Amino acid sequence: MNEKQCEICGAEIVGAAQRVVIDGSALEVCRNCARFGKPEDKWSPVPKKMVPVERAFTPVRRPKPRDHFKDLMELIPDFGRRIREARESLGLTPEELAARIKEKAALLKKIEREEISPEDDVRKKLERELKIKLTDQVSDERMRASGTGKGLTLGDIASIRRK
Ligand SMILES: [Zn+2]
Repeated sequence: MNEKQCEICGAEIVGAAQRVVIDGSALEVCRNCARFGKPEDKWSPVPKKMVPVERAFTPVRRPKPRDHFKDLMELIPDFGRRIREARESLGLTPEELAARIKEKAALLKKIEREEISPEDDVRKKLERELKIKLTDQVSDERMRASGTGKGLTLGDIASIRRK
């Protein structure tokens, strides 16, 4: 038979047993005793606030070392010489060039001697005035350095085969 007894009062359960939770245990009880417990479906074995927050321990993904250099613009190593040569090719004295970019000649001379690096705004004015480029993209430089060159063309292969 399919008879069940109430786990609280021991009475025979007629019809569907009520599943309730009392003190953390799920019990099958009669309708009378169901009021002593909580309905099982509203009970969760571990209170939500006790669930370990595993996501908090997910390690932070570190950026690849190469990403560090992405879009990093660097002043070219010989910026002073480039400025001086560009200025001289335009037939300008340091004073004349300084006046054109509205900076002091003393500052320009120091930059040309590479005693100081130009501030970004000064650098941009120099680049615009002299039509030169004073920065290089580091990641580009590295890619060029590690690249394999232009590679073989079909013509190259043909000439190799002829030999
Ligand atoms: Zn009962």
